[in-house]
Amino acid sequence: MIPEKILHFIGGRQVPSVSGRTFDVADPVTNTVYAQAAAGDLDDVDKAVEAAAVAFATGPWPSMAARARAKVLVRIADAIEVRGEELAALETFDTGLPVTQARGQAARAAENFRFFADVIVAQHEDAFSAPAQLGYVVRRPVGVAGLITPWNTPFMLETWKLAPALASGCTVVLKPAEWTPLSASLLPDIMTEAGVPEGVFNVVHGIGEQAGAALVSHRGVPLISFTGETTTGQIIMRSAATHLKGLSMELGGKSPCIIFADADLDLAVDSALFGVFSLNGERCTAGSRILAERSVYDSLVSRLAERAARIRVGDPSDPATEIGALVHPEHYERVMSYVRAGVAEGARLVAGGARPAGLPSGNFLSATVFADVTPSMRIFREEIFGPVVCVTPFDSEEEAIALANSTRYGLAAYIWTSDLRRAHRAAGLVESGMTWVNSHNVRDLRTPFGGIKASGVGREGGQHSIDFYTESRIVHVALGDTHVPRFGA
Ligand code: NAD
Repeated sequence: MIPEKILHFIGGRQVPSVSGRTFDVADPVTNTVYAQAAAGDLDDVDKAVEAAAVAFATGPWPSMAARARAKVLVRIADAIEVRGEELAALETFDTGLPVTQARGQAARAAENFRFFADVIVAQHEDAFSAPAQLGYVVRRPVGVAGLITPWNTPFMLETWKLAPALASGCTVVLKPAEWTPLSASLLPDIMTEAGVPEGVFNVVHGIGEQAGAALVSHRGVPLISFTGETTTGQIIMRSAATHLKGLSMELGGKSPCIIFADADLDLAVDSALFGVFSLNGERCTAGSRILAERSVYDSLVSRLAERAARIRVGDPSDPATEIGALVHPEHYERVMSYVRAGVAEGARLVAGGARPAGLPSGNFLSATVFADVTPSMRIFREEIFGPVVCVTPFDSEEEAIALANSTRYGLAAYIWTSDLRRAHRAAGLVESGMTWVNSHNVRDLRTPFGGIKASGVGREGGQHSIDFYTESRIVHVALGDTHVPRFGA
């Protein structure tokens, strides 16, 4: 059931904004407003932080045994799985993601909670033994965590932050993306049913520059985990400096997919297409620049173009759909402006570039392939975040690496070759936080997730997430007589 009102969740209760203000939320297939969401600002953030701070200072959550918290997390995972179909349907309706892919994201969301339940139970600490002194680490949750998330795969990304924050014993205030608040509106019931104590989990909806900015500048929030655009990340870092907040920044990308002539080209083509056109191309780790060795370049361009032309674009709720509707008309216009820029700058449009036949309205774009793209073109350098891919030829391994590294981003990279030595050489030289060799983006939740250069600061994933949401404190204990210099004796 699609609600007509989407409220905040503060201190265990669904509430409207203090100001009474709301904002419109529309679906991307018809672009008609389907709900009013509470528009949070400083007053609402104040209340949510207060509820989270009380739950942190006096509630059971931070000091509960890890096993007890883990049990609650497992119940959250179970509740997400029970609602898997409903969640996928809401996500598809709100974001335009194809439903088969939204189902996968719902399953991943449950897995995030199950995984961090395991991690926190297995958590152990270092001890440092020396003849005269023993040191041991005491780990404590940092406090109220501010979580700010984007509109692509919203529910999955919210849980990617919520699960480790809650596992660590933090209390949280979540600020979901304003274009896609719908799936987060299921979280209050899920959390309450699972036994998350009042005030531990809070949601404030609203516009980034108001609700998000208020969370970042709040003195009661010692850490912010943010996923979104690089430029927003820069604004957040500046604001967070005032209170010296801990920051985790998962930002934009323009990731290369390097295909050498000796690769399994059938698999490389499948992977390159899936890597950039799944999730509507609205994927931070999309391999949006395909770099192809000259000897196979022409045939790869033809194959990519032919396959792209056959990709099924349409109703996101149809299980046969491969690309759905882009999230918002504003974003659609931005993606289309890149298509126009590609044409204007002389790239060769070999597939897509326009609205598919039979879809006169809604934010639909055919899978778009540009060939002969050069590094000076904007479509090569800037993140488009839609179903648009650039193809560029290279003549040598050195040139491939140089091209791969010639953007400001460094999130992911994909390398296709059957030469083992070259695969490792290239993986070592490509500037990316995450590299896949002969594979598309298959995540292992234990591994560090994040980018270098303009793609991020810090790492989440596995132990890295726990390190972010906790402070490790060292206790030194003298085991015998300590020699102390006797000043003033
Ligand atoms: P965005 O930066 O516009 O918004 C992200 C969130 O930040 C939203 O909740 C928004 O309301 C909030 N926000 C906006 N301005 C703010 C401010 N001044 N202070 C505090 N909060 C503010 O990003 P988006 O358009 O929602 O998402 C797309 C971007 O996210 C792309 O660049 C994509 O690459 C990136 N992304 C990165 C990863 C990653 O893990 N590296 C994952 C997914 C998406």
